Amino acid sequence: MAEGNGRKINRHSLEEKPIQDNGSAAQEKGGTGDAPAVNPELGKLIRHRKRKTWSPDELAEGILKGNVPMLSRAITLVESHHPRHQEMAAQLVEKCLPYAGKSIRVGITGVPGAGKSTLIEALGNRIASPEQKLAVLAVDPSSSRSGGSILGDKTRMELLSTNPYAFVRPSPSGGTLGGVARKTRESVILCEAAGYSVIFIETVGVGQSETMVHGMTDFFLLVLIPGAGDELQGMKRGVVELADAVLVNKADGDNAGKAERAVSDYASAMHLLPPHPGKWTPRVMACSAKTNAGIDVLWNTINEYITLTKANGYFETKRREQNLDWLQETILDLLQSEFYRHPGVASLLQKYTAEVAKNKITPYFAARHLMETYHQKKITL
Ligand code: GDP
Repeated sequence: MAEGNGRKINRHSLEEKPIQDNGSAAQEKGGTGDAPAVNPELGKLIRHRKRKTWSPDELAEGILKGNVPMLSRAITLVESHHPRHQEMAAQLVEKCLPYAGKSIRVGITGVPGAGKSTLIEALGNRIASPEQKLAVLAVDPSSSRSGGSILGDKTRMELLSTNPYAFVRPSPSGGTLGGVARKTRESVILCEAAGYSVIFIETVGVGQSETMVHGMTDFFLLVLIPGAGDELQGMKRGVVELADAVLVNKADGDNAGKAERAVSDYASAMHLLPPHPGKWTPRVMACSAKTNAGIDVLWNTINEYITLTKANGYFETKRREQNLDWLQETILDLLQSEFYRHPGVASLLQKYTAEVAKNKITPYFAARHLMETYHQKKITL
């Protein structure tokens, strides 16, 4: 990433892409024996352009015009761990907030291999249009823990990535789950302000990411595959309970019969769940992301849900509750990052971690001391 290193530039850089020129190496090094061939003024301009950092005002203006590279840069800013970038991102999100909130937010989960990206590609290409632009964001808990990604990068949805009415953004890497939640929520705001009226947030069915994505979407879709038991698919009952629809994917070829059986098994199991708070009856359906069979039914179901819950007030209630949860999470996230960034805490933490591991002190004692250090240093700073 470009953060903290003004010379490295990649496709997620906040800075202007370098101007293509043959003499760039010479310019980067401050000139060689061939320097007279390079106009010094042009060199200055190029260096200046390379370092261009967009202000929140400029980014907001670009976003509101639907400028995709500006949206990309803005999301990079939101994803940055740098405190100054975070401050700028907060200002940017604040500016975009009045223009956000008008999309349909759909969460999509399922274990790796269930066919989520094939489905998003099929459904996305079906629905993305000038009147209905689609943004796809990903939440990948594996990348925040290990740096490795289950969801993989952008190449997964090749066709959709080239669709002019779709914006596909790979998952941010690094940071806590809370941090990832904040970044994703803020990215949703930015996409909405940029005119995307449908947002898909994809996540893998592991860890707590489903609960997190459920907490920021209007409709939550669970993608399963026929023939694999619940245990095999790593699904906990809790995740099925969150689902507004269960989609049995790969209902094609030899799998068609198995898919039908899975649909009826899930349908009877879901009868036993507590009633849906939005007075909706969760649906179970089969589809083939490969042949597109059932894709229209899925989209109609999502729209039916939105119409019903907007009419009965649940849509707004849920969004309000999600905003309050967002507030709580943000407070915790801010406190946590401020705490860990504190120099006194940072230097003591290692020592206390080792002592707790050896049972020399209790975690409570260590935590209290760290808190005291945090407060004392704050006063004397
Ligand atoms: P993800 O990990 O959940 O995103 O799954 P992918 O979309 O990458 O799909 C995993 C594999 O399943 C790929 O080889 C896909 O081609 C295949 N696949 C996805 N959807 C279908 C489907 O509807 N039918 C069949 N037969 N294969 C599918």
